[in-house]
Amino acid sequence: MQRPGDALGDVIPFVDLKAQYRSIGGEVREAFAEVFEEAAFVASPFVARFEEDFAAYCGTRHAVAVSSGTCALWVALLGLGIGPGDEVITVPNTFVGTIEAIRLTGAKPVFVDVDAATYNLDHRLLGSAVTARTRAILPVHLFGQTCDLGPILDLARRLGLAVVEDASQAHGAEYEGRRAGSLGAAGCFSFYPAKNLGAYGEAGAVVTDDDELAGRIRLLRDHGAPEKYHHVTFGWNARMDGLQGAALRVKLRHLEAWNEARRRHARQYGELLGEAADVVLPMEAPYGRHVYHIYAIRIPRRDEVKRHLESVGIFCGLHYPIPLHLQAMCVDLGYREGDFPVAEECARTFLSLPIYPELTREQVARVVRELKCSPGMARTG
Ligand SMILES: *Cc1c(COP(=O)(O)O)cnc(C)c1O
Repeated sequence: MQRPGDALGDVIPFVDLKAQYRSIGGEVREAFAEVFEEAAFVASPFVARFEEDFAAYCGTRHAVAVSSGTCALWVALLGLGIGPGDEVITVPNTFVGTIEAIRLTGAKPVFVDVDAATYNLDHRLLGSAVTARTRAILPVHLFGQTCDLGPILDLARRLGLAVVEDASQAHGAEYEGRRAGSLGAAGCFSFYPAKNLGAYGEAGAVVTDDDELAGRIRLLRDHGAPEKYHHVTFGWNARMDGLQGAALRVKLRHLEAWNEARRRHARQYGELLGEAADVVLPMEAPYGRHVYHIYAIRIPRRDEVKRHLESVGIFCGLHYPIPLHLQAMCVDLGYREGDFPVAEECARTFLSLPIYPELTREQVARVVRELKCSPGMARTG
């Protein structure tokens, strides 16, 4: 039973893509219909138009649409000439795709720990991670907030390293007024459905100001062929399909409003959770604009709280419970527990609360109410 003025009893999912579709379904179906009528599924003008719009949105000369975010990272690194014998520096608290892309080129991922306030790459640790084999730094803009890119870009310039931004969680985030993805040699985006800008399937993109790099990535995504049956290099089928291009172009028009809604929900969470004793809230760094892809708090008895919330129909996420340096797939890299204390502490204590544009003020209030009375939470007052 639902009580008036209270959402008690309702399920609050972690992400609600159905609510988003209810708000824009008409526009999306219209865009899909055009693709069907033109039968423009592959090498589609709908993808080319999205590339133009997305490059303009990011403030870059080029956007090259590909088939996923993992693929975007892979072709960006390949396009920069990274391969066997090279090292790429990144962080252990990211989605696995970040390091799959590095490993697929044949290069070796080298981890550095993250900053305890932003949960992003701690540039003060870069010096000790750089070797003669280092070719690139791959900062991840985790949860919708960019890394402190200035010092990273400075160091990279001094040492002649490429910076490839993993902006898969940061569509529309800003660093000193510039959009995520536009500051490094290349910026890589995922349009996985649950991202701030999500496709109706798999999709990704690389943005860059570098004409030659954009050209190489266009070759790599299409069998290394500048024209049909003329293969000048090894490539892959890494193209975005026309339906995704058409849908993303529609959704891009809503991204600013959606990001603003996420920021509103984050503010409300912050106000309501402000005085809770043992909760560490996310912070917005003075250098930028956070777009809250994920709203992760840190609490000591995370698993207990998560179970309680689930029992009352509120679903949270964990980003990410096992840092990559401790994954079986990385044993050959030789890392051990204790190597990256901040990332490990985050993995133990992070809890990602429901956040999506269509969330209501009542739902945010209910999440906080249930959180505060959960077993495992310290009491204040
Ligand atoms: C989602 C994500 C990716 C990979 O994206 P896919 O489109 O799922 O391949 C890579 N890195 C980060 C940080 C992500 O969040």
